[in-house]
Amino acid sequence: MSKSSPKVGFVSLGCPKALVDSERILTQLRSEGYEVSPSYDDADLVVVNTCGFIDSAVQESLDAIGEALAENGKVIVTGCLGKREDQIREVHPSVLKVTGPHAYEEVMGAVHEYLPPKHDPFMDLVPPQGVRLTPRHYAYVKISEGCNHRCTFCIIPSMRGDLASRPIGSVMAEAENLAKAGVKELLIISQDTSAYGVDLKYKLDFWGGRPLKTRMKEMCEALGELGVWVRLHYVYPYPHVDEIIPLMAEGKILPYLDIPFQHGSPSVLARMKRPAHAENTLARIKKWREICPELTIRSTFIVGFPGETEAEFQELLDWLREADLDRVGCFTYSPVEGAKANELADPVPPEIQQERYERFMTLAAEISAARLQKKIGLEMDVIVDDVDLEEGVAIARSKADAPEIDGNVFIDRADLGSIKPGDILRVRITDADEYDLYAE
Ligand code: SF4
Repeated sequence: MSKSSPKVGFVSLGCPKALVDSERILTQLRSEGYEVSPSYDDADLVVVNTCGFIDSAVQESLDAIGEALAENGKVIVTGCLGKREDQIREVHPSVLKVTGPHAYEEVMGAVHEYLPPKHDPFMDLVPPQGVRLTPRHYAYVKISEGCNHRCTFCIIPSMRGDLASRPIGSVMAEAENLAKAGVKELLIISQDTSAYGVDLKYKLDFWGGRPLKTRMKEMCEALGELGVWVRLHYVYPYPHVDEIIPLMAEGKILPYLDIPFQHGSPSVLARMKRPAHAENTLARIKKWREICPELTIRSTFIVGFPGETEAEFQELLDWLREADLDRVGCFTYSPVEGAKANELADPVPPEIQQERYERFMTLAAEISAARLQKKIGLEMDVIVDDVDLEEGVAIARSKADAPEIDGNVFIDRADLGSIKPGDILRVRITDADEYDLYAE
């Protein structure tokens, strides 16, 4: 980069979907000759990509904008909180521009206005896979924006709009570029991966001259041809997901499903207006495990949703015991401004929410520990995330572990010098605790 390149600082908050938005904006910035500055001092202006999912995320975003204003002074705001411009301007009236989520062109327009580009096509080379914020060996691929559901606790559809799927040709071109650039694991994300293509009526598109339908099964089959790990996030237990399980059993994509069940009581799920809440999910999980015994299911849950009775909470615990899920996260319900659930009767007092959270997590930890114990003695492939030469340990993940949210496999080995992040190693599991495995 030339010394005179305009420099943009970037703060990226929020979920993997927001991270992908950040990557796209950064890719565009780099392709137009902007330099990305790691410090406020050095930057000519700062873009803050915000999150507005829950109140604590709103506060974190407002704080980040405040810090960028104090340290740099020229700030453009984008992302989910950008939908609430009044709220931002009330606290930080001097921000230059506020745009909403996935508003790449608007963000770039604002950057051009306040910091015109100096483009040098011979200098400003952007790698074909774009600029990534994840380590080199894994990458998120966002297949759609928005959501057609209207869960009562969620305001994402009001911020990101209805489902808008990317045509399968575009998804596959990105995935193929990433695989060619050395990425070993693709994490497929969206708000509802099982709904992929519904909005496009499963439109026919082309990848490498080959016709493919814009649909979940066809996408999984095509991704399975790339020779890298493919992990599915945000899937709902609809009947057509049954078609994906054989691909997992055959090793085409990872035997892993991230399904945000959120609850196990039908009455609570109905009040939440959850997708597929009328499905018999326990029967479905049982059938999936018959077809693919190594299937890992990770999920998240909300306890203390308005009106949740002790009996409904018990139903959730019974459901969890029966479902025997591998990986589970849990939140106590917290009202989000603008969510329909705020109008529901009988909010659960915070001390009962906390007590239920602890009971839920105790059971989840027991289940996770028991499932991990069964892996002792097994041989399996793991992907290395990090090598800690000082501690003499390599930190890896098995096919059952997504980065950031699941557990690790710690490998004790004398010849760590020959191992690097992204390597896939065959190991033997020697020990397990509640969430992690140990291997040689
Ligand atoms: S499925 Fe429900 S929780 Fe998820 S984004 Fe859509 S409305 Fe929100």
